[in-house]
Amino acid sequence: MVTAAAEWESVVEELCKLYPDARCELNFANPFQLLVATVLSAQCTDVRVNEVTAKLFAKYTSAYDLLPVEQQVLEEELRSLGLFRHKARNILALCRVLCERFGGEVPRTIDELVALPGVGRKTANVVVNNAFGVPALAVDTHVFRVAMRLGWARGKTPLAVEAELCRLLPQSLWGDVHHLLIWHGRRVCHARSPVCETCSLRAMCRTGRGDIVPSAQCPVLSGA
Ligand code: SF4
Repeated sequence: MVTAAAEWESVVEELCKLYPDARCELNFANPFQLLVATVLSAQCTDVRVNEVTAKLFAKYTSAYDLLPVEQQVLEEELRSLGLFRHKARNILALCRVLCERFGGEVPRTIDELVALPGVGRKTANVVVNNAFGVPALAVDTHVFRVAMRLGWARGKTPLAVEAELCRLLPQSLWGDVHHLLIWHGRRVCHARSPVCETCSLRAMCRTGRGDIVPSAQCPVLSGA
């Protein structure tokens, strides 16, 4: 049997052909805006987040700008997003810590980022990779699902899958593969009905070939 380790290069090559423009689909102009947009993206589409942040970032571009904003005012700005009250509270707490401890700047390490209010490991990985170019592979629900179906990972948690992917792939590809798997997951390898019949990865995919029948959802991420 051909192993996942032997196949990843062909899969990445094909994904690069399919999605030459794969990138972060959240709009941002600086690390702070990326951090806020990523926190806001929990259980929301990037399109919806971009609609909200287009207005939000036109008024507030930094942690210092947002810090004095009343929670109710920020809630109104975020009202069209799921969990908007919770997110407004987290964003204001986040701004407070950034201003008090980091001079309003976004820290560059995962350990510092995950200690911030409302920031989990996925968000930290997205920020260090996209804002600072630090090698990191964020595992969201799409990355988890597609990696599992390809046969690249078997872990039961995002952290376990992240570790498996980082072992399988060279560090130089972590960020790109994160985007490529998300783009494929959104366009072809859907959670409920993957389009395996016409998927150009089928011959390289353990699920497409019928070798495995993985769980479609991460038990952690699907409830997040
Ligand atoms: S063959 Fe099916 S399961 Fe495999 S990547 Fe394509 S759509 Fe997903």
